[in-house]
Amino acid sequence: MSHEKQTQEFDVVIVGAGLAGLYQLLKLRQLGLTAVIIEKADQVGGTWHWNRYPGARCDIPSLEYSYQFDESLQQEWNWSEKYSAQPEILEYINHVADRFELRDGIKFNEEVIKAEFDEVNSSWKIKTSASNYESRFVIFATGCLSVPNKPDFEGLENFEGQLLQTSTWPQEEQSFSGKRVAIIGTGSSAIQSIPLIAEQADQLYVFQRTPNYSIPSNNGPMDKEREKEVKERYSEFRKDNWQNGFGIAAISDESLISETDINEVHQQLEENWESAGLGFFGGYADIPLDANSNDVAANFVRNKISEIVDDPDTAKILTPDYHIGGKRLCVDTGYFETFNRENVHLINLKENPITQISSLSLDADKTYEIDTLILATGFDAMTGALTGIDIIGRDGAKLKDQWENGAKSYLGLGIANFPNLFTVTGPGSPSVLSNMLPSIEQHVNWITDCIEWMNANDKKVIESSKTAEDNWMVLVNEIADMTIFTDTKSWYNGSNIEDKAKAFLPFIGVPVYTEMLEQVVAEDYKGFIFDRVN
Ligand code: FAD
Ligand code: NAP
Repeated sequence: MSHEKQTQEFDVVIVGAGLAGLYQLLKLRQLGLTAVIIEKADQVGGTWHWNRYPGARCDIPSLEYSYQFDESLQQEWNWSEKYSAQPEILEYINHVADRFELRDGIKFNEEVIKAEFDEVNSSWKIKTSASNYESRFVIFATGCLSVPNKPDFEGLENFEGQLLQTSTWPQEEQSFSGKRVAIIGTGSSAIQSIPLIAEQADQLYVFQRTPNYSIPSNNGPMDKEREKEVKERYSEFRKDNWQNGFGIAAISDESLISETDINEVHQQLEENWESAGLGFFGGYADIPLDANSNDVAANFVRNKISEIVDDPDTAKILTPDYHIGGKRLCVDTGYFETFNRENVHLINLKENPITQISSLSLDADKTYEIDTLILATGFDAMTGALTGIDIIGRDGAKLKDQWENGAKSYLGLGIANFPNLFTVTGPGSPSVLSNMLPSIEQHVNWITDCIEWMNANDKKVIESSKTAEDNWMVLVNEIADMTIFTDTKSWYNGSNIEDKAKAFLPFIGVPVYTEMLEQVVAEDYKGFIFDRVN
C-alpha cells in the first residue's frame, strides 16, 4: 500500500496566512474558486503573530495601516491608540478571519517545502511538511520580513541562558526582572523593545553595529476627533494616501528643502519631529532625492540625539553617518532617552566585534556575564521566504538559482519561467517602501482581477515575459539611482545577509507604480504571455 498522502486539489493554493494571504483567500472565494491557505504557524497573523517582543507596534498610524476593502469593517473597528500594539493588531487580524469566515480554508502547522510546475497539466504540485496539493495557480503571500536572520556568532550554540529572537518571540510572557540582558542589533525591532526591557532588566547591554535614525512616535490614545474626521471621509482619505510616494498621509509632499528658507525648514522639521513619525522622511520631497537636502534632515536628527543623550561619547556612538532613510527609518518611544539610564550600556561593535558567546557570557571589548541574550538581527528580507522553498518552474528552472545574482520579477507580481505563480508584494514592487497593507490589497485585487480576466477570456496559463521582467528591473534600479537609497548598506539591497546578491529590490513611488499597473491591465496584461506554446 502506498504511504503517499492523497493529493488535495484546489484552483489556487495560497502560501501564508498573514494580512496578504487572508485577503487573497476571501477574494478568490468571492470569485467562486476553490482555494486553500497553507501556513506554517499555528495561527493567523504572519508578522503580527511572530513578532511579539515588548513594544512591537506598527509605525504607520493604525487608521492607515488597516484594511480598506470593506467599508463596514473600517467604520466599525476602533483602534485604541494612534499606533496600535502587536496584540491589538493580531486581535484585528483574528477578527477579520472570523468576520469573513476564513478559518476553514487554512491548513495550519504545515510548511510548504516544494512547489513544482507540471508542464503537461499546467498545474502546480505542492509538497508540504504534512501533505500534497495540486492547483492551477499558486500565490506566495509569504511576506517580505518573515525569515529571521540568525547570524552565526561563534559559540552561540553553547549559550545556556534565556535565548530569544524578536522575530520568533514566544507566546508566553517573558520576564527580565533582575536579569542581565544582552541585545544584539539596533534596527526597528530593537529600538521598540529596548526602552521596555530596560525598565525591567537589572542591566541591559546593547550591542550596536550600525546606529539608526529614529523619530519619536508621540504615540498615545486614539484622538477621537481625528478618528471621526477620518471615518467621515474614509474612502477619500485612502485615495489621498495613494497620491503619496510612500502611500502614507503626506505632511508636505511637494516642498523642497533646497528651495525653502533654512529657518523655515528647521521650524518645519521641528514640527515634523513632534508629530510625523515615519512621515518625517517624506516631510520634504527632496529628502529622499537630494544628498544635500537629506543632510539637512539628517543633521537635524543628529543634533536631537546629542541633545537627548547625556553622555557625549554614547551620543556619538548612537549617531548615524549615512543618509537618513538609507536604512529603514525607525520610530520609537523613548529610545535615545533610554541611554541616560544607569542600567543601560552601549557597546560599539564597529570597534569591538563579538568574538565569542559562551554558556552565560558574551565577549566583545570585554566579557559580559549575561542571563538573557536577545537577537534583534532582522530578516532575510523580500526574497528569503521564496528562495527557502524549492520552487521549480518551466524546464526545471529553480527560483533559487534564477535569483542567485539578484531577484528579478515583473511588477513584483510575476516571474519569468514560473507560470501561474503570483507573489504578493514581491521584489520590484513598492512593498517595504510603502504602507504595506494598502500595497497588499492592491496586489491581491490585481491578481484576483487577472485570474477573473483569464477565465473570461479562456486563457489557461500566464507568465511574465523575460524581456518585460528585465526592463522592469532596469526601471526599478534607474529610479533607485535617482535617490539616496542605493549608497547605504541595508536590507533593501541585501547587504545584511552574507552571500546574498546585492540588489536593490523595492520600486520607489506608489503613484507611478499604481499608474503603471493600471496601464498593464488596460493593454490586456502587456508584458505577460498567455498560453505559451513551446
Ligand atoms: P507576513 O505577515 O510575513 O505573513 C507571511 C506568512 O507566510 C507567515 O505567517 C509565515 O509563517 C508564512 N509562511 C512563509 N513561508 C511559508 C512556507 N514555506 N510555508 C507555510 N507558510 C509560510 N509594515 C507596515 O507597512 N507598517 C508597519 O508599521 C509595519 N510594522 C512591522 C513591524 C514588524 C515587527 C515587522 C517584522 C514588519 C512590519 N511591517 C510593517 C511589515 C509587515 O511585514 C507587513 O506590513 C505585513 O504584515 C506583511 O503581511 P504579509 O501577509 O504579506 O506577510
Ligand atoms: P533590521 O532593521 O535589519 O535590524 C537588524 C539589526 O541587527 C541591525 O542593527 C543590524 O546591524 C544588526 N545585526 C544584524 N546582523 C548582525 C551581526 N552579525 N552582528 C551585529 N549586529 C547585527 O531588523 P529589524 O529591527 O527586525 O527590522 C526589520 C524591518 O521590519 C524594519 O526595517 C521595518 O521595516 C520592520 N519593522 C517595523 C517595526 C515598526 O516600527 N513597526 C518594528 C520592527 C520591524 P547592521 O545595520 O550593521 O546590519
